[in-house]
Amino acid sequence: MATRASKTPVMQQYHAAKQECPGCLLFFRLGDFFELFYEDAHTAASALGITLTKRRDGKGSAIPMCGVPVQAAETYLAKLLDKGHRIAICDQVEEAKKGRGLVRRSIVRVLSPGTTSDVSLLKAGENNYLSAVSCKKGRAGLAYVDVSTGEFQATEIAEAEVEDLLRSIGAREVLRAEESALPGVQPVDGAEPPAPPYTRTEVPSWIFEFEYGESLLLETFGLHSLDGLGIAQKELVVAVCGALIHYLKESQRTALQHLDRPRYFEQTDWMVIDPVTVRHLELFDPLYQEQATTLLHALDRTATSMGARLVRNWVRRPSLNLQEIEERLEAVEGLFKHTITRSELDRELRKLHDIERLLARITLRSATPRDTYLLGVSLRRIPTLRMLAKVLPGKRIDSLLGTMDSLEDVADRIGRTLADEPPVALGDGGVIADGFSDELDTLRDIQRNGRGFIAKLERRERQATGIDSLKVRFNTVFGYFIEVSKANLSKVPESYDRKQTLVNAERFTTVELKELEAKVLDAEGRIGELEAAIFEQLRLEIADQAHRIRTTAGCIAELDTLRGLAQVAVEHDYARPQFTSDGVLQIEGGRHPVVERMLEQSGPNRFIENDVYLDSDKRLLAVITGPNMGGKSTYLRQIALISVMAQIGSFISARKASVPLVDRIFTRIGATDNLTLGRSTFMVEMTETAQILNTASKRSLILLDEIGRGTATYDGLAIAWAVAEYIHSKVRAKTLFATHYHELTALPEAHAGIFNLHVSARQAGDRLVFLRQIKPGNADRSYGIEVARLAGLPTDVIARARDVLAQHERAEAPPGGSKAALATQRQGKVFDVMPKGLSEELRSLDLDRLSPFEAIALIHDWQRRFSE
Ligand code: ATP
Repeated sequence: MATRASKTPVMQQYHAAKQECPGCLLFFRLGDFFELFYEDAHTAASALGITLTKRRDGKGSAIPMCGVPVQAAETYLAKLLDKGHRIAICDQVEEAKKGRGLVRRSIVRVLSPGTTSDVSLLKAGENNYLSAVSCKKGRAGLAYVDVSTGEFQATEIAEAEVEDLLRSIGAREVLRAEESALPGVQPVDGAEPPAPPYTRTEVPSWIFEFEYGESLLLETFGLHSLDGLGIAQKELVVAVCGALIHYLKESQRTALQHLDRPRYFEQTDWMVIDPVTVRHLELFDPLYQEQATTLLHALDRTATSMGARLVRNWVRRPSLNLQEIEERLEAVEGLFKHTITRSELDRELRKLHDIERLLARITLRSATPRDTYLLGVSLRRIPTLRMLAKVLPGKRIDSLLGTMDSLEDVADRIGRTLADEPPVALGDGGVIADGFSDELDTLRDIQRNGRGFIAKLERRERQATGIDSLKVRFNTVFGYFIEVSKANLSKVPESYDRKQTLVNAERFTTVELKELEAKVLDAEGRIGELEAAIFEQLRLEIADQAHRIRTTAGCIAELDTLRGLAQVAVEHDYARPQFTSDGVLQIEGGRHPVVERMLEQSGPNRFIENDVYLDSDKRLLAVITGPNMGGKSTYLRQIALISVMAQIGSFISARKASVPLVDRIFTRIGATDNLTLGRSTFMVEMTETAQILNTASKRSLILLDEIGRGTATYDGLAIAWAVAEYIHSKVRAKTLFATHYHELTALPEAHAGIFNLHVSARQAGDRLVFLRQIKPGNADRSYGIEVARLAGLPTDVIARARDVLAQHERAEAPPGGSKAALATQRQGKVFDVMPKGLSEELRSLDLDRLSPFEAIALIHDWQRRFSE
């Protein structure tokens, strides 16, 4: 772009700025507008839906241009960031003054989806993560940081897990070295790779070098070695942490004192919930927008944005640390019981502003005086919070109170320095409190008195000259002057010096006015400088305490989160879960926390409670049958959600429950069309199933809601059968398998750990009544046609379907056989059930050591067992 011949100086300035920030849309300040040119203009006009115009560049050709008013820029910036763009803001860095020529402009901010700290561009209850990834020999370093709060985490994982982790943390922007590909979802059939849900930013590969990363980490956190961070030997992790710090320094152009030291974690520290499961369980986003409620929505009763972000993080990463979970539960129970403290804490917490983000703005130099004042106001409430929380029992509360700092010194410092309710902009004056600085007080005196003197002078001059309309005025170019209308010029005394002639008036000055002007203007200028200097000093002192403030903000977030969980538990009658070590999962009176809430809101229907009992032995895998709409999927999901709730440290939507710690939850639910991933429905289904079978462990919980529906019936049935057997014999994870293949209800006959459940329904005359109760055994039939009728299929279609079904059943039914027998008989046709243990025997047979006689004896034995 810089090669384009530009004639005007301002466009030369534009090109120079543009070269400084490749890959960014350049917002170039011209008067009251930010303008974009060339390709940037095309991109922005279409992304923002604004008009594309043209500007003539000297004598050259017209160039495309579009612009947004400076006053309204934030909204447009937010839209562009949301669409994944990076933006550089090139602003005027000096006042435009007449006759001074070209105004100096420079890049003052670089915004990208992952580096913004501007509260108006962020969602209060969500983190905004910037991540960096570096891969080598199948392993990957992955770090992420939220610059708007200071959180910084890092891990090392298998390269294949990168995409899942990025999606699960909800990274907004991911850095990668130029020319290195991020491992991603590989499209099938050569389809275009799907666009990831984050902005990919290419950065020079040298910023991922270990030595560079190490030196940046040591310097940024004032360390002598990386040993204390637990990453000294982790080359890839140091590399990605370094790349993040480098990128932040470049984009923020300031110190990063509020940043946490990177916390190293292992994936296995938390329950892993892959993105597919997150979606299926509707943890954060509803599958269908119209119902718009999710587990997070059901659990989040926090009073602060800090708490809202933390509860979201907890839902995303339920704990695997039993001690941690029990401590949280103990605190929730305490808050559950202390009704008055709970509500007083709620009231106090609601008075707090977002301490984490205000602090970030202060260290990043973007805080206004108002931001700093709000931080002070919030810090002043901490002693009350501590006092309230003191009555609560439990180790967790004790440790929060032990860590929480009253920060009275910082709150005092802010309170003494800033005026009450200071203005947003520093330049508006009145930022620093009276009494803070003697010099400032004296200057303000001069300023106030000076203004008074000027008013006095005006009155005196009017009297002396007899000109009633005489005015003493001020403007930035001419300073103070006496203005006299043309009609009164004859009355002007000799001592007046002419300054300027206007159409209807003349402007004058006097020796006295000049002296006064010098004093007042001097004082005003000095006040501005002094206020800026005092404010900067305050900013630096707060930034120096960033670590204490941030740690305390973390404690407040947790107190708020625990209080919110207790509040939900009280309002919705949740119970404290118990944890088992023998693998038993037993829930009595379980409810789906979200469906229950929706039913409460929508009418008289109550949620029907259900129980479950799974163990590692005889009740490992439940095959659940029953009519469409019967409640199978709801039942499956409620069990998973209860596990998630329990491991968050929340009370659960059940009367009573004992649950084991679950390391991963897997779901394969419904035939989700995922055309955006360039894969057919069946392919998606099988890919998800493969992932489950390959990754699940004994401690996992698997939910299978229909398998094999997207292909020919017998293929699907065969796959479903084999999958259930594989989980039962190899994976040994607790599994709930909902299906419309009634043939699968024969599985328990051959496998000791598989058992049948069904959801009950009753045919009352022409009506089908869903009882929503889970009962032992298999369903007698599937009621598909009845449900189709309820859905409004034309009566002709329903009648014909009934005919076809009857014909089919007659053809297959053994004379006098029941429907259940029919189901089993159908299944028997597809998969002859082997006598117990036979398949194992066959598999382990060593034919080389078998004599002909032994072989014949074996065949004889098998024949006998088959005929039994
Ligand atoms: P399909 O086989 O067609 O997928 P399903 O058996 O999985 O159906 P669900 O989707 O779980 O059925 O339930 C259908 C609807 O029934 C839910 O949207 C919910 O409104 C209601 N429902 C499910 N379980 C219960 C319950 N225990 N109490 C009250 N209502 C319930």
